[in-house]
Amino acid sequence: MGTPSGRTPLAERVEELLGTGGPLPIVAAGDPVLRRVAEPFDGQLEPALLARFVEALRVTMRAAPGVGLAAPQVGVGLRIAVIEDPAPVPDEVRSARGRVPQPFRVLVNPRYEAVGDRRAAFYEGCLSVPGWQAVVARHAEVRLTARDEHGRAVDEVFSGWPARIVQHETDHLDGTLYLDRAELRSLAGARAMAELWAQPTPDRAAAALGFDLP
Ligand code: ZN
Repeated sequence: MGTPSGRTPLAERVEELLGTGGPLPIVAAGDPVLRRVAEPFDGQLEPALLARFVEALRVTMRAAPGVGLAAPQVGVGLRIAVIEDPAPVPDEVRSARGRVPQPFRVLVNPRYEAVGDRRAAFYEGCLSVPGWQAVVARHAEVRLTARDEHGRAVDEVFSGWPARIVQHETDHLDGTLYLDRAELRSLAGARAMAELWAQPTPDRAAAALGFDLP
């Protein structure tokens, strides 16, 4: 049996996923799709299907809720991610973490490089590693190059929390999870995060759990 209308296998897979309607199931750590280098997007999904897929990523990210979602996290090995952060946090957290609102964006074939050598270390989590958070020291500022969902070039510098989101989501496309870069002694479950480590910075966690900050 041939595939109808010459669609790529990836397009077939995406059509099948979208057929269920509503938020897509999120793949958890341990699934090899999260460890593979995703394929560059090069028209494998025709424009209408790409638009529907991006919308499904947005719906899934918001429902989770999360501030970013990469295609491999729904089992699709393409270099596409979405980000969005309304940043509903107290002022104290906003200023310590640089967590400013980030509007909805689609990143197609993103790459980042450090701007300067400043690093920032904070707790972060991942929808594919539910229930846990760990401290990751990341570039404080990065230059992102990508395409948007319409194929327009993106070349922008991100700092603060948006820089962290961009690095986390782009890393997913290279098969890298935040835990690969994390200070593992900082690893904390949801209860410890809520009861002990909700401060704006991880300084107290570093002292109590025994890990270094940059
Ligand atoms: Zn993630």
